[in-house]
Amino acid sequence: MIPAAPLPMQPDAMPADASLPAPVPAAARWQHAWRQAVRDPRQLLALLGLEQISARVSDAAAAQFPLRVPRGFIARMRHGDPHDPLLRQVLPLDDEDRIVPGFGLDAVGDGAAKTANGMLQKYRGRALLVATGSCAVNCRYCFRRHFPYAEETAARDGWRDAVAAIAADPSLEEIILSGGDPLSLATPKLAELTTQLAAIPHLRRLRIHSRLPVVLPERVDADLLHWLSALPWPVAFVIHANHANEFDASVDTALARLRGNGARLLNQAVLLRGVNDSVDALAALSERSFAAGVLPYYLHQLDRVQGVAHFEVPDTQARSLHAALAARLSGYLVPRLVREVPGDTGKRPL
Ligand code: SF4
Repeated sequence: MIPAAPLPMQPDAMPADASLPAPVPAAARWQHAWRQAVRDPRQLLALLGLEQISARVSDAAAAQFPLRVPRGFIARMRHGDPHDPLLRQVLPLDDEDRIVPGFGLDAVGDGAAKTANGMLQKYRGRALLVATGSCAVNCRYCFRRHFPYAEETAARDGWRDAVAAIAADPSLEEIILSGGDPLSLATPKLAELTTQLAAIPHLRRLRIHSRLPVVLPERVDADLLHWLSALPWPVAFVIHANHANEFDASVDTALARLRGNGARLLNQAVLLRGVNDSVDALAALSERSFAAGVLPYYLHQLDRVQGVAHFEVPDTQARSLHAALAARLSGYLVPRLVREVPGDTGKRPL
């Protein structure tokens, strides 16, 4: 483990010394931590004492989909271990440069599911809002790494089209805030969106997919909790943790705060070669999630987008891992093994 960059001191603890940097206001602390994220693969390797694998970094992959990883997440990686499961999720390697047949730019049919600017609809009763194109961490296996966020991000015009389309469709009961990562929006911007949604009488539930409580737990601050507790719907909050080592005390605290403010917490993991493709790793993930108050929900087969083939676990192995997991754990700790298939009416069980 390596130490995280220290967070700024509390304003009231700052000595009155003009030579020190100005204190960071509490409301902006998570954004300050986000700005300190590491963006240079070689800097990341140097922090971990792994300069010897620098030659495996792909500059082309990093240019297409830049490295971005918060320092608190780096602190949970094992120093000197090139196979660390958290490092593998964020480091752009030359494996990504291979063009593999069957791996395209839009593996899950997002293009065909667009129903308004910034809105996708794949399943009955639910619509997904691309709340923003930004994320706190860039995950190398991301199924939206080629998504045209510049065209689809609807935040700029206040999600006008998407909100109008939702209001016009009374069959929609659930809105899914996704992205990118919706919690990378500042809280006032989130409130601007949910205030508009709250005026739509047929909405019954809100689902939020976010990796920030895990990769940047500072995000779960007082302003966010105030926003969350004032929402008029039950909220399902899906975190995206893939390995037990992603949890630490700061993540536990962030998740407890979300739970304490009414969110039901679920985990959706992706089955990833070299990260969690063993029964031990999957069992540890379920047990650690549950200890943090998060119920295992889905274990996803990889979405086949260009640059991620080295993460793929064959279906036969996925099934046997899942069967072994079910034989080891209580039923409520076993996530459903699924894949997203364009055109299906829901996630397809394997
Ligand atoms: S947080 Fe989610 S949307 Fe963002 S890069 Fe990771 S997998 Fe993709």
